Order: sequence, then structure tokens, then C-alpha cells
Amino acid sequence: MTAPPFPCSPVPVSPEIRLTYVLQHFWQAYEAVPPVSIGYPSHQPQIEVAEAAGPFFEQQHPYPPAPTWRQWQGRTIPFFFDSAPDNPLIEWRPNGQAIIHADIISAAFYLLSGWQEYFSEERDQHGRFPYSASVQHRYNFVTIPVVNYYFDVLKTAVEHAIGQPLRLRRWAGKATWACCITHDIDNLYSAWKAPAKAALRQGNLRHFGRQLWQHFTTHDTWDNLSQVQQMVAEYGAKSTFFFLPEYRKAANGTPNADYNIQKVWAHAATAISSAEVGLHASVGTNTQGGQLKEEGHRLQRLRNGVKADGIRFHYLSWEPRITPGLLDELLYTYDSTLGFAEHFGFRNSYCLPFHPFDFQQRNAFLFLEIPLNVMDATLHHPRYLQLAPEEIAPALTPMLQEIERFGGVCTVLWHNENFDPANTHNGPQEFHTLMQYLCSRNPAFLHGQDIVLHLEAEK
Ligand SMILES: [Zn+2]
Repeated sequence: MTAPPFPCSPVPVSPEIRLTYVLQHFWQAYEAVPPVSIGYPSHQPQIEVAEAAGPFFEQQHPYPPAPTWRQWQGRTIPFFFDSAPDNPLIEWRPNGQAIIHADIISAAFYLLSGWQEYFSEERDQHGRFPYSASVQHRYNFVTIPVVNYYFDVLKTAVEHAIGQPLRLRRWAGKATWACCITHDIDNLYSAWKAPAKAALRQGNLRHFGRQLWQHFTTHDTWDNLSQVQQMVAEYGAKSTFFFLPEYRKAANGTPNADYNIQKVWAHAATAISSAEVGLHASVGTNTQGGQLKEEGHRLQRLRNGVKADGIRFHYLSWEPRITPGLLDELLYTYDSTLGFAEHFGFRNSYCLPFHPFDFQQRNAFLFLEIPLNVMDATLHHPRYLQLAPEEIAPALTPMLQEIERFGGVCTVLWHNENFDPANTHNGPQEFHTLMQYLCSRNPAFLHGQDIVLHLEAEK
């Protein structure tokens, strides 16, 4: 597939717009500090950042020139728009002034704004920007929150200017980082299907008959929302459940829910207790505002008029040229779709929630993106990774350590169907191993809306 046409002809993004957008996020990452001027040389700021993007942001190329690689805090980090790699990264000047010789403002803007996916024409069979087309894949840094490293450079210069340390923001009072545990509810009644199909394929009619009998007479293993909620609560964590209000297949044949939300709502609402409810918007709604609005209303009616604050698109469908605009139009306060289905890590190279960039208005969108870092399906799937159970924790740990290091938010998606004990690849055991690690590092476990309110309170 290819990307849809631009909603309107893109216009250049000036250095001032890039600076404003990036600094808005920089100041939000740290606790309040006395103001320090940061900018390009023409403004004669206290902390000067070299301007090295040339005409890149006046054009529509998805990819910038290759990055240079510099050492920072013991890590090798890619720096885009670094035209003087022989200069030190920071040059100290008298009176608390400093010059940063790589254009980390442009580099942070490029990654955080999602420039590559907005201007790339590439989309996969589900209409998504593919990981294989990303700079994260090309230069192999999907598990490094590069923008947080750029901010760390900036922070070091600010500390020099104000003569005192800058502290990372805290979560829920004192926690140094946070986690969101989420579940997309695609299926509640289909656990019997795979074993029944297998029996049929093997010609084992007796076994097939037994599966069918169980299906009609007993409880389906995937009808497990109260167990999921309790299992998560036992870790002192809380769940967010994203419900899919569409059970009809999408126009292209992609399945949506295997349940009719009208029929199951009373049962589901009791099962999840006080957990947060979000909208799991069906295939196609990422480009069709009317249908998206209707699904939101359907869920809202079932909840006695209470609108879901947050949203995640089924199949992580996201069209950068259209979807974010729909979210502001329909007043969602947060989204948690932005991760690559093909690889865990950081799609925007940032481990804190952020406001995606509006390429039409040329400022930040109002809704908050709480990036998705780990999806169960990513870890073991014919088209994604095929990690063995014992490989999962070693693969994820360095990324989780990066989030903790920068006081970020780790968002995990574990589908309810993968709490089925029959799943021994990315099932309940692998979820427990991940939760045990997270708990050992003392994050605040928060709902998406807790994060929104927390950040608003500090504005
Ligand atoms: Zn889904």
C-alpha cells in the first residue's frame, strides 16, 4: 500500500517552530527550573545550538543525511544534522554560556514529530508505516530513546548555566518512572477455535466434537477479564482495557472483535472492576472520522454517557497524515498506538509521553501520545520477532533500563487471549516474568488518564 495524499500541501517548518516544539517537551521532562534561553545563534541565547539542518525542513524528503555517532554518558548515540563532528559536543563558555555543536533541536524535532512517516509514501498491508522503512531500523537504534539523550545533552548545558542540578520529573509523588499495563480486547470467545481446527485437520473427529461440545456448554478460556484484572492487581498495578465496539469484519476482510459489545458489556464491566476503559477503534477508523466518532459513541452509551479518555487503534493502525487530526477533533485526551508492531522500543525515539506535531497548523496537537513500548505479539509472531520464552527478558531489559534512566513511562500491551495457559510463547508465564522485573524496579503503575492529569497539573 502507499500513503494517502497530503490533506493539504505541506509548508516549510522554520527553525523557530522546531525550537518551540522541542523546548516545550524539554521543559516538561524536568522539574521546574529558572528560565534559561536556549536557541540558534541568531538569537544570541545563553545556550547556543548550531543550526545545521540546511533546507531539509523546507522540503519533503522523509530521510535526512546519515547521522554521525558520538559518545554520550557511555553510550554511542546517532546525531542527525551534525555538520561539525570534529568539534566537541558541548563547548563551555564563560558566564554560564555554552555552544552545542550538533543541531540537536532539529534532530529531536525530526524524530519526535514523526517526520519520516509523514513524508514517506511507504505503508504495509495494514496501511501502517513499516519498521523496515524507518531510520530506527536503518541505523539500528529502535531500543535507544535518542531524543532523551539529546535532552540529556541540553540538560547538562542548562545545569552549567544555572549552577544547579536539573531533576527529572517524578510520577505520582515519588516514583522515578512509571508503567501503563494495557489490554486490547479483540477476542473473548475464540479460544476453542485453534484446537478445533487442528483436530479437524488431523481428521480427529472425536476430538473436534469434544471441542465443539465444550464451546457450547462451557466457559471460553479467553472470557477471562476478571482474572486478567486480578492478576495485574496482585502486582499492585492497574489495568487499562481497550474495548472494540465493532464486530463486523473490515471492508478488506480484517477481523475486528469476536464479541458484540452491546451483548457482553454488563458482564465485561463487572469483570474489570475499577480498571480504566479505553476505545479500541476498529480497522479503517484511523482514516474515517465518521466511523471513529460512531464507535466512540457506541462505547459511551454503554457507559451511561461517560466518554473514554484514551484510544488505541486495532492492529496499531495509524495514518500519520490523517489520524492525529481526528483525535484532536474528537477530543480524545490520549492515544497509545505509537509503537512498531514489528519491534519493541521507541517509534519516536522518546520514552516520555509527548504531543505529536500537527504538520498543518505547525504546532503540537492537544492530545497526549503515551507511546507503546512492548506488545505481546511483537515478541512471538510469524511476521514479527520469534523469541523463545527465555530470550524475552534479556531482549527487553536494556530498553526497560533506558526508560527508567530517563524517568519515562513504559507502556505494555498484553492481550487477554495471551493469558491463556495454552500459550507458552508469549503467554501468562512471560507476562509474569515481565511484571516481576517491573515491580523490582519500583515504578508508579498508572492509568493513561492519570498520566494526562499528572502532566497537566504541572503545567
Ligand atoms: Zn486489536
